Formats: sequence, C-alpha cells, structure tokens
Amino acid sequence: MIFEASRAKAVDKLNHFIENNLSEYSKLRNFDFGPDNRSNISCLSPYISHGIINELEVIDKSLKKFSFSKNEKFIQEVLWRVYWKGWLELRPNVWSDYLGELNNLRNEFEKEQNYLKAIEGKTDLECFNQWVNELKENNYLHNHTRMWFASIWIFTLELPWQLGAEFFMQHLYDGDAASNTLGWRWVAGIQTQGKHYLASEWNIRKFTNNRFQNIKLNEDSPPKVSKKSYALTKQEFNNPQNIEEKNLLIFENNLAFEITDFKENKFEKIYIVSNKNNNRSIKLSKKLLKFKSLLMEDQKKRLKDKSIDCEIIDISEIENIENYYALYPAVGENLDYLNSNIIKMNFLYRNLDLLAWQFCNKGFFNFKNYIPKIISSLN
Ligand SMILES: Cc1cc2nc3c(=O)[nH]c(=O)nc-3n(C[C@H](O)[C@H](O)[C@H](O)COP(=O)(O)OP(=O)(O)OC[C@H]3O[C@@H](n4cnc5c(N)ncnc54)[C@H](O)[C@@H]3O)c2cc1C
Repeated sequence: MIFEASRAKAVDKLNHFIENNLSEYSKLRNFDFGPDNRSNISCLSPYISHGIINELEVIDKSLKKFSFSKNEKFIQEVLWRVYWKGWLELRPNVWSDYLGELNNLRNEFEKEQNYLKAIEGKTDLECFNQWVNELKENNYLHNHTRMWFASIWIFTLELPWQLGAEFFMQHLYDGDAASNTLGWRWVAGIQTQGKHYLASEWNIRKFTNNRFQNIKLNEDSPPKVSKKSYALTKQEFNNPQNIEEKNLLIFENNLAFEITDFKENKFEKIYIVSNKNNNRSIKLSKKLLKFKSLLMEDQKKRLKDKSIDCEIIDISEIENIENYYALYPAVGENLDYLNSNIIKMNFLYRNLDLLAWQFCNKGFFNFKNYIPKIISSLN
C-alpha cells in the first residue's frame, strides 16, 4: 500500500472513498482483509493527522453524498481524533508522564529478548510478525489490527504498553500523540479504568477472513492498573480578536494552510516548521521523516504557486524569527520543544477544536451527543 505525499493525492483518495466505499463503511469497517485490500476503510489518517485534509472537509463531503444518519458511524470515527486530542489537551500530564515512563523503560528493555523479538517480528505468533512487517513496510495498520496488536503486546507478550506505543509512533504515518497514547492506554485498561481490550483467536480469525493459523493468545488476563489519576486542568483556548499581519508558523499537524480557518488572513511570511529526531523524545523511522518532509515540500509548493512567501525551517530556528503567530501544534513533541525553549507563543486554534474540546472533559459517549451541534455550528 502506498501513501503518496501530496494534498492532490489525498483529495483523490477522499473522493474515491466517498464515491465508492462509504456506503458500506459501517458494515465492513472492522474487517482487515490485508494490505492489498483496504477499500472497506478510508486510509485517510496519514493525511488528516498532518492537516493535509481536515475533519470538516471529510465530513462535509460525506454529507453531500449521504444523510447524517446513514453517515453517523463514519462521522463519529472521524471525530474520535478530535475527541482524543481534546481529552489530552485537558490533561497534558498524561503525555509528559508517558514520555517519562518510556524513558525509564527503554533502558530496562534495551536488551530484553522478548522485546527485541517483538519489534523484529520474530515471535511465535505468525499474525503478529506479519503486522510488525506491515507496520514497517506500509507505515499503516488497520484499526482492528492496532487493537489486536496492542492487546497481544501487553497481555500475551507481556511487554509494557509504553514501548509498544513508541514502536507505533516510530513507524505509523499517522502517528499522533493523542490517538496513539490514549489508544494504547485504552487497550491496557488504564484509560477507562478497569476496562481492557482482550484480543481473542475467534475474533482475529473472523475479521481477517481466516488468514492466520495458530493464534495462541492469553485471553484471560486482568486489566493493567495505574495508580495515577488525572484531574482536569483548566486550559484556556482563545484566538485573538484581531489577527494582525505578522509571520505565521505552521507545524506538521497543519500542512494545508489553504484549508485552515486563517486562509483569508494576511501574513507576512509563512514558516513551515520541521522537527528532526534530535529534538524529539521518540525517534522516528527514516521513512516517516521522509514522508513528513515530502508533505512539507508539497505545502511549500502550493503556497509558492499562490505567491505566498514561505520557507521550511528547523524548529531550532524559531528563535531567529520575530513577531509571529503559530497554528497550535497540540500536545506532543512540537509543543514540548516550544514549552522548553520559548517563553511566550501566540497560538491560533482551529474553530473545530475551540468548539469541540469543551466537550472532551468526559467520555466519548458524552461527546457523541454534541456531534450534531458541532457540525451544524461550523457549517
Ligand atoms: C492502539 C492504537 C493506536 C492508534 N494510534 C493512532 C495514531 O497514532 N494515529 C491515528 O491517527 N490513529 C491512531 N489510532 C486510531 C485508528 O486506528 C486510526 O486512526 C485508523 O485506523 C486510521 O485508518 P483509516 O483512516 O482507514 O480509518 P477510517 O476507519 O477510515 O476512519 C476515518 C478517520 O477517522 C479517524 N479515526 C478512526 N478511528 C479512530 C480512532 N480509533 N481514534 C482516532 N481517530 C480515528 C481517523 O482520522 C481516520 O482517518 C490508533 C488506534 C489504536 C487502537
């Protein structure tokens, strides 16, 4: 499976999915038919996570094709990302604690054979080994497979979830601090305390069309327990009343300025901020860094085509720029860098996030109730 690094290809993929496969999405979405047959899901996450296309654009197109009720499942899935992001924004210590725990575990497991076999795809489980190779080769896994993978990692291979989440972040083209960290916490049973996700042989067989044999799993393990609990931190997210003509920084989560809420505003110059491995806690694979860099080049080209002055810079060069706004990079590696190196930032937030994040204080079932309101307010 190939993900081409351009907005044009992402829009083609979106249009093709809406026209041909959206109608069967809720019925077929849980099947992983293998990397050569992904038509039952959209495979848009590498693009949405980089802001190449955005959630509202996807929802808008889906609603032009089908009614809200026919599309409800798909729209809910698209907004899970926004929900996870908002949930983490309100409890940013979950991310910093995760990185701290990861740091300790890395040293402890550096030479641990079970761990090394797992990340090399050399376990006794054929399905797991195939998924490891698929992750490294295609930089993508189906959602159900991510759940099985994480569950096997934690409950059958008995490895710490933090290391598994790091492995995903190193390779997934859609690697995202919120969806990934909280997805792994959820499988382990510490996101919704006491409720874990246990993969089972029959479930894997059914939803992979019996592609795998000898699936011997620990199907009877209790959830993981965490002593840490996270209270809501009161975060204020506001945009300035008047946006002045300053410079603008955009990060890897907003690589299509032309579809942002600020596309009509005038900026002196746009700086596309790249973040290499030296300033990241989690070191990304070469392929993933290349994918990000191609998406940045593609953004630069589209801006230049519109005669907008722009430049790609390294995150360490921000200190040389004056008088700027920054499109909010969200909790994650880029924000960590800014928080530890730069005193004051003027962030601009997406309208979708400003609206939706206020409903992320509780669970997704509560958030779901606000989806019609969120969509109608922003249309
Ligand atoms: C352990 C684990 C780790 C994960 N790590 C990531 C990650 O790093 N980055 C990431 O983008 N997603 C992550 N997910 C969520 C989900 O698996 C992917 O977003 C989805 O598989 C992307 O494939 P798709 O675009 O074909 O999805 P589709 O089924 O076509 O869904 C459409 C869109 O909805 C959103 N979406 C769907 N399911 C989810 C979900 N569970 N959570 C958040 N958004 C969702 C995505 O933007 C996706 O592109 C993770 C899930 C698990 C269980």
